Amino acid sequence: MDFDALFTDQIDQLKRDGNYRYFAELERKAGKFPHAGNHVDGEVRDVTVWCSNDYLGMGQHPAVIAAMCEAVQRTGTGAGGTRNISGTNHDHLLLEAELADLHGKEAALLFTSGYVSNWAALTTLGARLKDCVILSDAGNHASMIEGIRQSRATKVIWRHNDVKDLEAKLAALPADVPKIVAFESVYSMDGDVAPIRAIVEVAEKYGAMTYLDEVHAVGLYGARGGGISEQEGVAHRIDLIEGTLGKAYGVVGGYITGSAALCDFIRSFASGFIFTTALPPAVAAAARTSIAHLKTSQTERMQQRRQVARLRDALDRAGIPHMANESHIVPVMIKDPVKTRMLADYLMQEWDIYVQPINYPTVPKGTERLRFTPSPLHTDADIDHLVVALRSLWRQCALAHAVA
Ligand code: PMP
Repeated sequence: MDFDALFTDQIDQLKRDGNYRYFAELERKAGKFPHAGNHVDGEVRDVTVWCSNDYLGMGQHPAVIAAMCEAVQRTGTGAGGTRNISGTNHDHLLLEAELADLHGKEAALLFTSGYVSNWAALTTLGARLKDCVILSDAGNHASMIEGIRQSRATKVIWRHNDVKDLEAKLAALPADVPKIVAFESVYSMDGDVAPIRAIVEVAEKYGAMTYLDEVHAVGLYGARGGGISEQEGVAHRIDLIEGTLGKAYGVVGGYITGSAALCDFIRSFASGFIFTTALPPAVAAAARTSIAHLKTSQTERMQQRRQVARLRDALDRAGIPHMANESHIVPVMIKDPVKTRMLADYLMQEWDIYVQPINYPTVPKGTERLRFTPSPLHTDADIDHLVVALRSLWRQCALAHAVA
């Protein structure tokens, strides 16, 4: 059988639909973020990166770099095993203690990514809690959807951020089955923020466990970077808070925090925790430094907010519509996959601006967009340059009607 032909058929379909995924070949340069090299045809051009999830530039923070270098010299490169078989290093436990403290929980458990933490935790909870029903927000991330699916628990989807719908769905379930309400705080593509206090209250009323993904909020919100749950003062009422070390903290890895019993349960049963090599200790050391820094420093968060507001104002003045939300994510809706890609290509080729087009299936068809994530390190000049470029391309591409 010609397998390659089967593969190319489907790839060609993606290309015809405008949904084929290309990526830029970047060369990050320590201390230069958000500027990076972009490799094209043997040349390296300096570009401004506008779509990074290294939201605060912590991936190039001198203290985080120093912590990783020190730990590599001290411990070597890899962990040397799975967590249960020789892979648990002192640095992992220090990081878990730091994370438990960040969210005010008894315990924390590390995973190799935020994706794996969601998938492993939800698969385990859904599969091992007898008759469990997982109530999942319709906007939840693929890692949660996959975890729930593979758990084979009953799944009930509630309308995105709609507490009334959640309550109706909870009320319709038998009182004595375990229920888990799974949701996010900041949704990555629209940048909207969940009404987490109201969700927690409804979940408590029906005795449901709360599972909150704070991947796009940790480090960024709350006085110590504990996320929206800290900002809203409800972290202590949420049973499980999940996060990443790969976005605002600038490193890599994922985690859950919760009660000691919950973390021990996941540690004991989750295949995504048990059967994989632990994160390098140097990664743990770098992440701990980043978290500790953002627990006390407000500088990065405040400067990021200033730059987000500045970009929004400049877009308004240029007449470029962007989605309103309360977060640091600035989506500019194009609503067509081909136009979105074309605009991103022009920005890169003519203006040395890199923003990745966001197409289906990351977002629903017809809501294709450019998603800008201003960091504290984007200068006023970077913002002005971006808006001048967008205004010029807007006219060139006659986009006004496309986004109306
Ligand atoms: N949850 C959400 C909401 C995400 O957007 C992502 C990644 N984009 C993840 C989890 C996975 O996190 P990580 O990148 O650390 O795997």
